Amino acid sequence: MKLKKLVVGVAAVSMALSLAACGSRGGNASSGGGDNSGALVGIAMPTKTSERWIKDGDAIKASLEKLGYKTDLEYGDDKIPQQVQQISNMITKGAKVLIIASIDGTALSDQLDNAAKAGIKVIAYDRLINGNKNVDYYTTFDNEKVGVQQATSLLTGLGILDKDGKETGKKGPFNVELFAGSPDDNNATFFYNGAMKTLKKYIDDGTLVVKSGQTGFTQIATLRWDPATAQKRMQNLIASTYSGGAKVQGILSPYDGLSIGIISALTASGYSTSNLPVITGQDAEAASVKSIIAGQQYSTIFKDTRELGKQAVTMADDVLKGKTPEVNDTKSYDNKAKIVPTFLLQPQVVTKDNYQKVLVDSGYYKESDLK
Ligand code: BGC
Repeated sequence: MKLKKLVVGVAAVSMALSLAACGSRGGNASSGGGDNSGALVGIAMPTKTSERWIKDGDAIKASLEKLGYKTDLEYGDDKIPQQVQQISNMITKGAKVLIIASIDGTALSDQLDNAAKAGIKVIAYDRLINGNKNVDYYTTFDNEKVGVQQATSLLTGLGILDKDGKETGKKGPFNVELFAGSPDDNNATFFYNGAMKTLKKYIDDGTLVVKSGQTGFTQIATLRWDPATAQKRMQNLIASTYSGGAKVQGILSPYDGLSIGIISALTASGYSTSNLPVITGQDAEAASVKSIIAGQQYSTIFKDTRELGKQAVTMADDVLKGKTPEVNDTKSYDNKAKIVPTFLLQPQVVTKDNYQKVLVDSGYYKESDLK
């Protein structure tokens, strides 16, 4: 009996010691020190319903494995508890770095605290994680610029601006409707702010008319970026605002998946390729690039997931080798707990005019992917 107690006691002490070792930043177990060759890196992606995240996940996994690291790539199916659980498991499995594209940027605080205690570094991927100081680095595209580019391409598509961004003198008025992304995704407000700052002047002077009157972020947001939600809202707008015969001529859409839902609502109510509004997007997803080639969607924003993946992997590799990753923005991304050191990449507008050069010649798509 006594012996049993002693054994249990010794086991408890040694467990406590090893937990304490895990908790010490800079100790052997933490990502910054020691030999981390072959270390495990956890990659948490939000969903497989959008092609871009599959490309991101695959790119990150392949490059990390090329460098000799082990990986655990998980998709959260847009369910917050699932992603929380996946990240907790990565911590338990002994990951040394976590690369996280969050579903809800405010829902991961406990996991981030636990990661920090275990000396694990956290890289926010594409979407900022909010309200917690244990976000070590962030890599993304210039999100406000994405919004500016979406709005600018809407103006170009309507002929208000020419290809060089100069005003043509065309004053419309044009009926437009606006859509925004998911309110729990930090990026969505950046896209919205960039777009609204660009469109404001034209709304104020009457060149653009938002006939529904819905311009506030919460009025036009689309929870979880769900295409069906955008489709429904477009149907409602057609029924409520455009039933008298007026046509909508432009749609600011922040994501290709939403654009597909919006186009479905419009075609179901009688619009055809010849009179669909100018519709924007984001991510250059294959289905939407096909739609652009077919003359339905007008534009998308290309964010090269290969480059973003490479950047995240470089950051992870630096951290694991005890080096400080390079950043190029130390002021834009305040997550309400700290300003997160960020590496920003540049987005690019794609239309029918340049898709070949930007997407096919660069090897992002094969010609056959877009048939
Ligand atoms: C990403 C976009 C994407 C959207 C929906 C955002 O956080 O930055 O590229 O379109 O999520 O998945």
